[in-house]
Amino acid sequence: MARPRTFQHFREVQEELGKTGAAIFRDANGVESLFIDSPYSIHYIHSYAEDSAFFLGLAEKKLLGSKCANPACGFVYATPRGHCMVCGRPTEWLELPRRGKVHSWTTCLFGSEAFLKETPYNLAMIEFEGAGSLFLARVKECVQSELYVGMPVEARFAPEPKYSITDVWFVPVR
Ligand SMILES: [Zn+2]
Repeated sequence: MARPRTFQHFREVQEELGKTGAAIFRDANGVESLFIDSPYSIHYIHSYAEDSAFFLGLAEKKLLGSKCANPACGFVYATPRGHCMVCGRPTEWLELPRRGKVHSWTTCLFGSEAFLKETPYNLAMIEFEGAGSLFLARVKECVQSELYVGMPVEARFAPEPKYSITDVWFVPVR
């Protein structure tokens, strides 16, 4: 039986798996690993529970954060939280601005299943005026060399929502 083809870029391994079901990845040190295509499927019934409003908001093209209901605190979370980490009181939903800035970023050459087809992709911590915490999201429509700390970005929402975190991403404000 023929030996599977060998590749030095994982993207090529992925392509080969789609064609033949087997490929060898040779890393920078010359170490070879055999990869096989091994699909499986499960039905997982997941409840968003207290996070439901966030995902329903994405479908309405709204980015919801949360604000501490304690008037003496009022901390705003760009990533929603049911309770305030500062004072422990419950929070309320709050619509965040569509525009924010890149606080920090990285370019991912590998990712979990939902993002594998997009690699390489940019992942950034987004800061919003008035919010005390950051929001992790992809930044699309720009290459790695265009990104910088402080870059103004704007939210985009999936036209066909999947009620998933992939329903929102950011693009540079041009
Ligand atoms: Zn608080």
